[in-house]
Amino acid sequence: MEPVNRRDFMKSVAVAGAVAASSSSVGEAEDAPTGPVFLSTWPFGQAANERAAEVFHAGGSLLDAVEKGINVVEDDPKIMSVGYGGLPNEDGVVELDAGIMDGTRHRAGSICNLHHIKNPISVARQVIERTRHTTMAGEGAFLFALKMGFHPEQLLTPASLERWLKWKATPNHVTYWITPEHHDTIGMVATDGQEHVVAGCSTSGLAWKIPGRVADSPLVGCGFYADDNAGGASATGDGDLMTNYCTSISIVRMMERGASPQEACNELLRHMARTDPKNKDSQSAVIAMNPRGEVGAASMNAQFHLQYAVWKNGRSQLLDSVILY
Ligand code: ASP
Repeated sequence: MEPVNRRDFMKSVAVAGAVAASSSSVGEAEDAPTGPVFLSTWPFGQAANERAAEVFHAGGSLLDAVEKGINVVEDDPKIMSVGYGGLPNEDGVVELDAGIMDGTRHRAGSICNLHHIKNPISVARQVIERTRHTTMAGEGAFLFALKMGFHPEQLLTPASLERWLKWKATPNHVTYWITPEHHDTIGMVATDGQEHVVAGCSTSGLAWKIPGRVADSPLVGCGFYADDNAGGASATGDGDLMTNYCTSISIVRMMERGASPQEACNELLRHMARTDPKNKDSQSAVIAMNPRGEVGAASMNAQFHLQYAVWKNGRSQLLDSVILY
């Protein structure tokens, strides 16, 4: 492939960059970091970042920090799109996906369609630490989790069961054979302040999804990606769509070619819109960080407006991402 000249590349993202400058409070997060930085999707990402920072400052590795930070969201039954209490698939079974990647070793672990184990990010971590595999799915992932000492439990809470029963009882209810409904992902990208990058994410996926569905979150390069040489990224939104754009690796490679994290996020979403204008109405949002701890975040449109959390220089903030269309 032709190497991309930084000036040409910057020209191609200049318009997107202008949007970034005009329509976001992202600037507030831009004071230069002096240590680790944690960046996460959605308001629930703030508690995840704070836990991650605590773990890191207590001597944990960056992988520990990202894993334990994401555990906070997985453990919270009030968050109905991740972990315990996540909305189930169309059969009423909670089916979880997660992945984590170490940007130094270029090594990821991921888990798809996991039942009865509330912390898929921790199972994904064990895939890295204990196997030579990268992705494990379904029954095999469950048996692997048991071998690793995880305990099975009922992940459907009274509240998520009630939502599922209501959906089932609604005549002509919306199904994922056709239209998407409730979803979100905790995605996190982190650096230790010394240009080491880790990324991870965890989700219960789309509510009422067809059993066996795998979307972007647990796929390396789609839901998450980390490379110490270039940065890390994560995605949230309509994973059935976003998988087709390998969003996270695309953003990381743009940063490698000279784009700032914000420019790379904007350009990825613009690319999706250019290839199919219908994507302007899609639920798509991305976050990114370079190894220096500079961050970016963008949403395709105002209907699916990502708020993202940044922990930096001891300060935890919740910010609005750039909206592109
Ligand atoms: N991307 C996730 C999925 O499609 C959901 C989300 O992030 O909103 O499973």
